[in-house]
Amino acid sequence: MSHAPDQTPQNPQVVTRFAPSPTGFLHIGGARTALFNWAFARHHGGTFLLRVEDTDRARSTDEAVAAILDGMQWLGLEADAPPVYQHANAARHVAVVDALLASGHAYKCTCTSEEVEAMREAARAAGTPPRYDGTCREGGAKDDLPYVVRFKAPQSGETVIADAVQGEVKIANDQLDDLVLLRSDGSPTYMLSVVVDDHDMGVTHIIRGDDHLTNALRQTQIYTALGWALPTFAHIPLIHGADGAKLSKRHGALGVDAYRDMGYLPEAMRNYLARLGWSHGDDEVFTTAQLVEWFSLASVGKSPSRFDTDKLDNINGHHIRSHDDAALTDLVCGLEPDFAPLSQTLTQAMPLLKERAKSLQDLVDGSNFLRAQRPLTIDENAAKALDNDTKSRLQAVHQRLSALTQWTKADIEADLRAYLDENGLKLGQIGLGLRAALVGNKQGPGIFDVLALLDQQEALARIADQMN
Ligand code: GLU
Repeated sequence: MSHAPDQTPQNPQVVTRFAPSPTGFLHIGGARTALFNWAFARHHGGTFLLRVEDTDRARSTDEAVAAILDGMQWLGLEADAPPVYQHANAARHVAVVDALLASGHAYKCTCTSEEVEAMREAARAAGTPPRYDGTCREGGAKDDLPYVVRFKAPQSGETVIADAVQGEVKIANDQLDDLVLLRSDGSPTYMLSVVVDDHDMGVTHIIRGDDHLTNALRQTQIYTALGWALPTFAHIPLIHGADGAKLSKRHGALGVDAYRDMGYLPEAMRNYLARLGWSHGDDEVFTTAQLVEWFSLASVGKSPSRFDTDKLDNINGHHIRSHDDAALTDLVCGLEPDFAPLSQTLTQAMPLLKERAKSLQDLVDGSNFLRAQRPLTIDENAAKALDNDTKSRLQAVHQRLSALTQWTKADIEADLRAYLDENGLKLGQIGLGLRAALVGNKQGPGIFDVLALLDQQEALARIADQMN
């Protein structure tokens, strides 16, 4: 397949960031956002940053921060600088609020939360958007009362953003009310902190879920009030489950650590997550280097993508097949440490094992016979093959294989095929019985490979265990 070369010029000035709130694990949606920011920065030779949005002290946990860092490391999406912790910048956020107060772009508001709620109620009753009514906007704050600081949002005209994915997005300014920048306890709000941190970190492109689109309009007003250059926004459609509803735990939207534990390869996850919203022609399977080469915001679609486990499995299978055999052995041994003494045999078996595997677990299942202990547990299905006729054939086969002086697949196959020919038998008439005796179930590579991968004495002993 040939592809038109990507025309996007390199732009080392590009700075992107992933800004998760550490209140849970790194879920699929977050991982996809991180990947897009990473791929965009890498494509341009720019910088990818991580900001931990831990201002919600009650909900942010160290475990969640660790899970995010761990998940990003596993996915190979490491940031180019140590993480920025938003909470640590609180003094700077407050200073910016002071500057907005001084320039007349913000004001103190002493309305109580009950009063604000009553205003919202009244607006709702009048059929208008629930909002703060501006009581304190022109110096109405009462002295000596606890206050919040509100943004003095423009009341006429419109706010427009040129979103790199959504196109032009705008809102009439009378639809947005004066949001709180600083709470009465002196803590800055999310909307303010995000703007200040993105500015201070030099972020040029904000790529995130389209649930932040309205926030982007509000943030644009804050940038403008501060006289700061606007970043480019790119709001990517959310991920849905196979049933079309927003992705939730019910759809298997787990943390990325769960996908690691289920045996998915990080390169397969990167490949699959990239396809959740971004495309490059008809390409379904690609390397991370290709993703970086091809990635552009222009190729991010506007409609929600659907999470499809079958597709993820297929993509994982492709990446397993192109993964190095010894490296796969290491991964299998990581999952199942007792395979370690068998690692040489496992690497030898890997080209066969990976042919049909869709996960590392499939590789484990396919190689379990190598570590099985005699006498093997034979599963019910496989045991059906061990009838009396088969047992007597196993005796004959045992005798012949005992006499083999070379234990290679070619020698074993030639010998067994000679036996079948001499007795007018088909492979199935001995193959199923052999598989039952040697593997104990229907898994594993072809039967000649199974024999060759086992040591001759071990193979003969397993056959002997079942032939009487
Ligand atoms: N912390 C926000 C979240 O986790 C993201 C903020 C942003 O990307 O601007 O939803």
